[in-house]
Amino acid sequence: MKITPLGLYAFQLTRFPAAFPMNCFLVREADSLTLIDSTMSSPAAEVAGVVGDLGLELRRVTLTHAHGDHVGGVAGVRQRFPDAAISIGERDARLLAGDRSPAPGEPQQPAKGFFVKVDWKPDQLLKPGDRVGSLEVVASPGHTPGHIAFLDVRDRTLIAGDAFQTRGGIAVSGVLRPLFPFPALATWHKPTALATARALRALNPTRLAVGHGSALEDPLAAMDAAIAAAQAAFG
Ligand SMILES: [Zn+2]
Repeated sequence: MKITPLGLYAFQLTRFPAAFPMNCFLVREADSLTLIDSTMSSPAAEVAGVVGDLGLELRRVTLTHAHGDHVGGVAGVRQRFPDAAISIGERDARLLAGDRSPAPGEPQQPAKGFFVKVDWKPDQLLKPGDRVGSLEVVASPGHTPGHIAFLDVRDRTLIAGDAFQTRGGIAVSGVLRPLFPFPALATWHKPTALATARALRALNPTRLAVGHGSALEDPLAAMDAAIAAAQAAFG
């Protein structure tokens, strides 16, 4: 995997950077590390490399959403780092357990996209406003019903999962980029994704990191352009 530092606290680990990029992230705390997402197969060897280099334990694994290209690698990480606590948003935990049906009060459409069967259960279910180390949990539904993003409160790096993509050009979840159409095809509810994009922009992140594609520094103008394009595309 390709490892790219993002500012002072984060590293992006990219599987298949040229062909089908899938990112996960290590975020550094004073005494430990948090892994966000896992790609579709285990990043344990690369995580172990960073753990060794920094001399910090992996204590937490957290997930932006339940799609297979984000949770598939957890089993291998769990095997290698059995003491790390695994967390996911409480709504997407239902998807992880195999239930794609809509919840009361939501747009009544089943979740879309690629899911895998997992042989583990999360240790902790997250709600918006919760903290995972220095990361604040931010509601970001649309790509999936319970997608969450993580804002590092120290430097306002936003790890947005698939609420945005940058591969093939920055786009709000649900806007089809012909060079990398997969996140759009897996998006549950486009109007909700657009509302989420606006809410994430309003956080004024200094850096935008996503599940698919390179991170952007000073991303506000690019996010505004992507939001305008999504508004035009969704009507
Ligand atoms: Zn994805």
